[in-house]
Amino acid sequence: MKPSTKILDELGNDPLRRDVPQAGYQGQPGSFGARAAVRCGRPVSYPTFGKLLGALLAGEVDCALLPVQNKVVGPVVEPLEALWAALAETTTALAVTEEIPVPVRLVLAAPRGTALEDVKEVLSQSPALRQCRKLVAELGAEAIETPDTAWAAADVAERGGNRAAVCSEEAALEAGLVVLLEDVSDVKPNSTRFLRLQLLSSQRAVPVADPECGPAVPRPVPRVVRYAGPKLQALLHDAGAELLSLPGTAEAPVRGFALVPEAKTTVVATRVNGAAKDLLWIGETPRAVPEPRLKDAPQVTAQIPLTRVAIGPFAVGAGARAVIAGPCAVESPEQILRLAKAVSRAGATALRGGVYKPRTSPHAFQGHGLEGLAWLRAAGDAVGLPIVTEVMAPSQVGKLAEKAEILQIGARNCQNYDLLKEAGGSGRAILLKRGFGTTVDEWLSAAEYLFAAGARDVMLMERGIRTFERSTRSTLDLCGLVAARGLTHLPLLVDPSHAAGRRDLVPQLSRAAWAAGADGLMIEVHDMPETALSDGPQALLPEDLEDLCDSFGLVPRESDSVERIRRAIDTVDAGISKLVTQRLELCRLVAEVKRAQGRPLRDAAREERVKARFAAALDDVAGERLGEALIALGLEAEGWSGEEARG
Ligand code: PEP
Ligand code: MN
Repeated sequence: MKPSTKILDELGNDPLRRDVPQAGYQGQPGSFGARAAVRCGRPVSYPTFGKLLGALLAGEVDCALLPVQNKVVGPVVEPLEALWAALAETTTALAVTEEIPVPVRLVLAAPRGTALEDVKEVLSQSPALRQCRKLVAELGAEAIETPDTAWAAADVAERGGNRAAVCSEEAALEAGLVVLLEDVSDVKPNSTRFLRLQLLSSQRAVPVADPECGPAVPRPVPRVVRYAGPKLQALLHDAGAELLSLPGTAEAPVRGFALVPEAKTTVVATRVNGAAKDLLWIGETPRAVPEPRLKDAPQVTAQIPLTRVAIGPFAVGAGARAVIAGPCAVESPEQILRLAKAVSRAGATALRGGVYKPRTSPHAFQGHGLEGLAWLRAAGDAVGLPIVTEVMAPSQVGKLAEKAEILQIGARNCQNYDLLKEAGGSGRAILLKRGFGTTVDEWLSAAEYLFAAGARDVMLMERGIRTFERSTRSTLDLCGLVAARGLTHLPLLVDPSHAAGRRDLVPQLSRAAWAAGADGLMIEVHDMPETALSDGPQALLPEDLEDLCDSFGLVPRESDSVERIRRAIDTVDAGISKLVTQRLELCRLVAEVKRAQGRPLRDAAREERVKARFAAALDDVAGERLGEALIALGLEAEGWSGEEARG
């Protein structure tokens, strides 16, 4: 029921609600434009792309969503032409601030009682009709253009007859139609990319979660240019831009827009310099050097590709993930060698061990110093792992850097600038922990000291901050970690051991950090925690570390233990069993729906797509065999008897 007091305009917009950003789109509620708009604020509907852009330029909405590229039809001509026309009026007022992919699942829908064979007219918006040409041809129907897809559904519902609409399932159901065919696009899965346009004066970057990677990384915003002429087109293409060509006109036979990936912006800006006459950057013309994200930490927050730190078997960052493990303190040559073997066999690729220990009490064990360093080095060499150890004072840097590949700067020293300068100039990789009371910006600025001193292989580590909470040693700040991900290109690691201070919490916190997108973890491990000289209560037992590494899919390092490798295989098998069970459950469900709708159980094209999916992920032969096996199991679960017709 509609609230009677609400004043809605004829398109269903509520002009009184200005508390959230207004996101304009072309079409009606239920259209794919509305889907893109809800991600950016309160959707506001406009009947044409021209009116939508006019509203943006007049400041009526905060942003406008334009569909620019579709998987099936390529460039979406109508909105791009509208943008072309709008740019003729205003040159620099607009900026593209986000690219939003919207899955397009088009259905064919008609009033209840209409059979598929009876459909003589298919109504939809022109780009949607172009996305399902095959279907329209197969039906032998006439394609009729409408202003948008939801409009088509409403029109078909109102006028009936032998008409059907191509629209979203939501729009069909909203109009009271029934779905005759699902997913009717010529290419599946289909999707349309929208650009969010804003006035240059009001643009604001918004970090968004990337479904592929998990953590909220600011989605790289493509820079968009309008170009004319074959020379520029070729140049943009060669520089790695994606072309959205438009039909030529008398003045400009070759023209269009190009989406320039963020990483290529500088290259393109440099190359097109001479040809600037026929090229217009939407928004500011990019600078030769991209601006850092944080003024105080320009090198650490430079907008450059993610950094990977790689030392022997150890690699973190830019997609590589690793675990560093070992005892809190190096206690004896035997202890560190035993633990080196244990962590290597678990799957860790760097060995930690403190030889200078920052202890709250001066009477507590302070570490074995350089003697301990020699034991740590020998243990690392014995198992082929790089070593990580903490440096507490500038005077220790030289000696530690002689032997350790990675120098750790502990939480207490995060803002010890003399130490940062000295360690940064050591030539060694640095692991910089966040201080208990250090903000993310201060932490990144501390890393900037390392850069200023010459360091490049810098890793950042969240290890818990000091809060009012007393049930754990510190509070693991995953918010800060994910926020930092949006600011820096450096690898980000998490130390759940010092955050929790309790062994029982470490596995769950490790999984949470891994799921939040940490590039790596550092975990304290001890095989006799009850007699450990420091931090025994938070040390995992070696077998706990093995379980954890297995669950992350890390491969045990060379191990002479068949049993150990078998345990890792068992974990993988458990994961596969769970997924196959889930798949068969879904097969049973889809069979029920197909039977209820009278659709054939088998669909040859779909089966080919499933096989191709596995062939692409594994090698061709293994992938195809796996695909076939899963299809066979699926058919069995669906109750396929072999006699029913194939779809
Ligand atoms: C350590 O890693 O041993 C350590 C002392 O950590 P933090 O500096 O995080 O307390
Ligand atoms: Mn410790």
